[in-house]
Amino acid sequence: YCGMVAIVGRPNVGKSTLLNKLLGQKISITSKKPQTTRHRIMGIHTDGARQVVFIDTPGLHMEEKRAINRLMNRAAASSLAEVSLVIFVVDGMTWTDDDEMVLRKLQSRDDGRKTVLAINKVDNIKDKEALFPYLEELSKKFEFDEILPISATQGTNVQRILDMSVESV
Ligand code: GDP
Ligand code: MG
Repeated sequence: YCGMVAIVGRPNVGKSTLLNKLLGQKISITSKKPQTTRHRIMGIHTDGARQVVFIDTPGLHMEEKRAINRLMNRAAASSLAEVSLVIFVVDGMTWTDDDEMVLRKLQSRDDGRKTVLAINKVDNIKDKEALFPYLEELSKKFEFDEILPISATQGTNVQRILDMSVESV
């Protein structure tokens, strides 16, 4: 089995940190070089007979006012059609217009791929009751297959994300 898992989210939510943690679990190959407008291969994780290719999809958070952004968005959306799992990374404390834009792109899903909401940087949140104040409203907008509080730096729930990724391919 070999399949693709997309790690999506606006800049600075912790996608690269999460990827490093995911790949740090076992021997893996990382690559930043192969970059096209469709997607960028971030790394490959092998588990027995299963191989997960983690990709990111540049352009998902961009406004569509400029032609180049529209083009990149279309490319990003079409590459999402090929993935078995989307990991939507957000910051536990802040929700921005860029998050909203990524969410909008995810809503145009038309197949059986799964979507996980990974609420990152929970190590930063002292009052766990305050965890992601927008979550209730967000859950109404999108039916996530799973919602996971994570810490990419500390590794909280990262193994769970890796397991789901491997199972999805
Ligand atoms: P990206 O732009 O989405 O790839 O985000 P990065 O992985 O580059 O992370 C952006 C910043 O957030 C960096 O300073 C990271 O150290 C920090 N960061 C990422 N994950 C966590 C986390 O789980 N907890 C905390 N406290 N900071 C994090
Ligand atoms: Mg990054």
